[in-house]
Amino acid sequence: MSQQDPVAERVGSPRRTFAMTIVAQDPSVGDERGMLRATVPVPADRLEPGPRGHRFQVIDYDATARVLLPPATLTAGDGGPAEADPFDGRPDEELLSDPAFHAQNVYAIAARTLAAFESAIGRRLNWGFLGHELYLVPHAMAEANAYYADDVRAVLFGYLPPTARRGTRGRPRGLRIARRGRLDPGAVYTCLSHDVVAHETTHAVLDGLRHRFLMPGLPDQPAFHEGLADIVALLSVFSMPGVAKRLLGRANLRGQIADQSVTDQELKHNALFTLAEQVGSALKDERGSALRDSITLTPSARWASDPRYSEPHSRGEVLVWIILETLARIWRKRLQDITFAGSVNLDRAAEEGATAAQHLLGMCVRAIDYLPPVEFEFPDFLAALLVSDGEMVPDDKHGYREAVRSAFARWGIRAADTYMADLSQSSLTPIYRNLSYTALRSDTDEVFRFIWENLELLEIDPRFYIHVEHVRPSVRVGPDGMVVAETVAEYIQFLEGTPAGLSRAIGLRPPANVPSGTRVRVLGGGTIIFDQFGQAKYHHRKDIRDIRRQRRRLNYLVSNGLFDGDSLGVSDGLPAGQRFAILHQPDTDPKETW
Ligand SMILES: [Zn+2]
Repeated sequence: MSQQDPVAERVGSPRRTFAMTIVAQDPSVGDERGMLRATVPVPADRLEPGPRGHRFQVIDYDATARVLLPPATLTAGDGGPAEADPFDGRPDEELLSDPAFHAQNVYAIAARTLAAFESAIGRRLNWGFLGHELYLVPHAMAEANAYYADDVRAVLFGYLPPTARRGTRGRPRGLRIARRGRLDPGAVYTCLSHDVVAHETTHAVLDGLRHRFLMPGLPDQPAFHEGLADIVALLSVFSMPGVAKRLLGRANLRGQIADQSVTDQELKHNALFTLAEQVGSALKDERGSALRDSITLTPSARWASDPRYSEPHSRGEVLVWIILETLARIWRKRLQDITFAGSVNLDRAAEEGATAAQHLLGMCVRAIDYLPPVEFEFPDFLAALLVSDGEMVPDDKHGYREAVRSAFARWGIRAADTYMADLSQSSLTPIYRNLSYTALRSDTDEVFRFIWENLELLEIDPRFYIHVEHVRPSVRVGPDGMVVAETVAEYIQFLEGTPAGLSRAIGLRPPANVPSGTRVRVLGGGTIIFDQFGQAKYHHRKDIRDIRRQRRRLNYLVSNGLFDGDSLGVSDGLPAGQRFAILHQPDTDPKETW
C-alpha cells in the first residue's frame, strides 16, 4: 500500500516525497502476518543508481568477500522511484534476499533520520566532514557490527552469516551471492535493522552539529553520542504509519484493546521500547532479546561513579532511560483520558504515543543547538532541553518539561550544575555598538565583535585564544504554529602547554603521573543564542578557567590511557575512523558493539 503525498497530487508540481517500503523494526519482529514493514515517505531527490541522492550514496562493497555489487536502480522517468514502490507487497523472503531492497532500506531510513533532524532544527545540516554525501555501505564486512567512520565519510554495516551465528569458530567467509544475485536470507544483516541504521546516521548528523564532541573529553561526551543515537532510533519508530498500532496488539471488533495491555509495565516491555531485536538475539544467542533494553535499568543517584556506567554505551543508556521514562509517563497520562470501562481505542492509543514521541524527539534534537560546543556533560543536556523547549512552547500544558526534569532527577542530574545564563536577566546591558544584525546571522567576525564588546556580560577571559567557529541561523515552527527564528553562534577557547606551564597560567596541576614534557590541551567555549532581532538571549558556556572540571577531565583521560603520543587532551590516539568501531570479537560483551 503506497502512501499518497497530497502535494504530489497538484498538477505539474514535483513530488516532495517518495513512498518506500522499509523493514519497520528488523526482520525478527512480526507476527503470523509476517515481518513488520512500513511504507514511509522519504524526502524526494534526484536518484541516480545506488541509490544516490545529494546527501547519501549507497555503495555495496563487501570488504570481507571483496565483492562490489552493482548499484540498485530505483528510478523511473523523473529521477524518483517508480510511481508504485517496487518492493510493495513482495514476500518477506524476496525482500530479505534482494540486495536492491537492502540498498533502499538503508537509504530510506538514513534520509528520514536526517530529515527528522532538519525539520526539528529548522535548517539544512552539514556533515562533520568535507563533502556533501555520506556513503552508506550495506554489506561492508562479515561482522555483527556497524559504525560511522568520519575519515572515509561512511557508515559501514556488517552482517553475520548463518554459520557464524551457530557458533562456528574461524573466519567468516563473507557475503555469498547465490543464483541470480540473491543474498542468503538466513544471515543477520545490520542494514535491515531500523534501529542500527537510524543509530549510525545519528552519529554522523551529531558529528556535523557538534564536531568537537569527538575530541577527548569527559565520559558523558561519548555517552551522549551513543545515548542520542539510541533515542533517535527508538523515537523515530513511532512516526512510521501503522507500526506502533501493530506492536500494541490486536483490537477487538470495536477497535478496542484492554487497558491492561497499555499499563506502564506492558508498554516498557514492548518492542517499541527496545533496540535492535534481531541483532541482539543473534549476539546473545537467545531469541527475543534486544541488543539494548535501557528501560529496565534501575535509577540511582550514585550511578556516576559506578564502573558499570563507564563504557560509553552503558553510560548513554542513562539518557535513553530518562527519555523513555518520560515518554511512558506522558503516554500513560494521555491514555487515561481516553480509557473507558477497562478498554481503550487502539488507533487513539497509537496516535497518542506517536504524538508524545514526536514532541520528545523534536525537543531532544532542538536542544543540541543550545549545547556548548565542547566538554559535554549530562546537566548541559537537561538545561538545553528545558530552555530550548521553553522558547518553542512557552506554555507546557502537557507537562513535558516537568516529566523530563523529574526523570533526570531520579539519576541525580540537575540543570543547576551547568552555566546557562539568561542574558535578559543580567544586570549588565548588552552592547550592540555598530553591529549589523544581517551580518550577525552568518558572519563569524561579526559575532566575535559582539563577544569583544561584551566580555564582562559573557564572563569571557580574553587572555585565552577565542575563536568563533560557527554561526547558524534557524527557523522553527512550534506545535501551535508559532515561528521562532534564532541564530546560534559557537565559540571555543583553548590553551596548550606543559604541566608546569598550565599550573602557572591557570593554576591547573595535571595528574602527577603525566610526564613533564607532555603537551596538554584544555578547552572552554560556549554557545550564544540570538533572537529574531539579533538580541542575545542565552549563553551556555564551559569556562576554560573552571579548574575543577579541567582536573576531572584530565584525571579521566589519564586513568583511561587516552594519550596520543606525548600529548594529552588533543586526540585520543585512536586510528582515524575507528572511534565508533568497537569491534565485535566472539568473547566480548555483545553490549559493546555499535
Ligand atoms: Zn553508536
